Amino acid sequence: MAAITMSHIVKRYGDGYPAVNDVSLDVRDGEFMILVGPSGCGKSTLLRMIVGLEDITSGEMRIGDRRVNTVAPRQRNLSMVFQNYALYPHLTVFENIAFPLRLAKVPGDEVDRRVRDTADLLELTEHLDRKPANLSGGQRQRVAMGRAIVREADAFLFDEPLSNLDAKLRGQMRTEISRLQRRLGVTTVYVTHDQTEAMTLGDRVAVLRKGELQQVASPRELYEQP
Ligand code: ADP
Ligand code: ADP
Repeated sequence: MAAITMSHIVKRYGDGYPAVNDVSLDVRDGEFMILVGPSGCGKSTLLRMIVGLEDITSGEMRIGDRRVNTVAPRQRNLSMVFQNYALYPHLTVFENIAFPLRLAKVPGDEVDRRVRDTADLLELTEHLDRKPANLSGGQRQRVAMGRAIVREADAFLFDEPLSNLDAKLRGQMRTEISRLQRRLGVTTVYVTHDQTEAMTLGDRVAVLRKGELQQVASPRELYEQP
């Protein structure tokens, strides 16, 4: 776990108006922070700069006590969940979840333990030997989440992970993500344009507009605003 500290972050893609303009935001250790705002307001760009998939034009990005502006994505120990969660169709649930650990050459017995703990948390234990084609949509989404959390990263980053799901599944997964984050207590930044997700999932909500941070408040404070 680690706090994420953004100081005066600017991102310019070209000569035009900055995609992210002087954003300063502290995500506390263990906090669930939502980034919300209309399409094009800079949410994904900000998230990609946290992960290291996008260069920072100016400002400082810190994860824990480390300045990460020039640290490669793989060296940041973060876990990102995208909206398009491609599972490997020829691998079992176990091997799909184990994949990042295999890449990192984690010893077999530890892989076994961590995959089983993760499957337990996500109620996938009975499905470990199945292939993705034999799972429901919700189960597949949970496998994708398992693959992201099995690495015991310092923070989780979500980029609209539910936007391709139908309303019922979206509701289920919202509950699932909330339960999981509270259980694990891992620092989380979650991008969405969905008001319901913003108001139900986060400890705090950061509202972006045209690249600028408009306000940061708890869902309750936002709700009670005139
Ligand atoms: P959001 O995630 O809130 O929809 P984005 O971060 O994707 O917003 O985009 C913010 C702004 O930056 C938009 O104006 C978008 O067109 C622009 N933008 C995003 N990615 C790029 C890119 N790779 N090259 C140029 N402009 C980009
Ligand atoms: P989202 O709003 O979900 O981030 P977009 O459709 O804005 O999705 O962007 C999808 C991809 O296109 C992203 O990788 C982004 O970097 C890129 N992109 C967005 N706007 C531009 C742009 N104006 N020029 C070049 N690439 C862009």
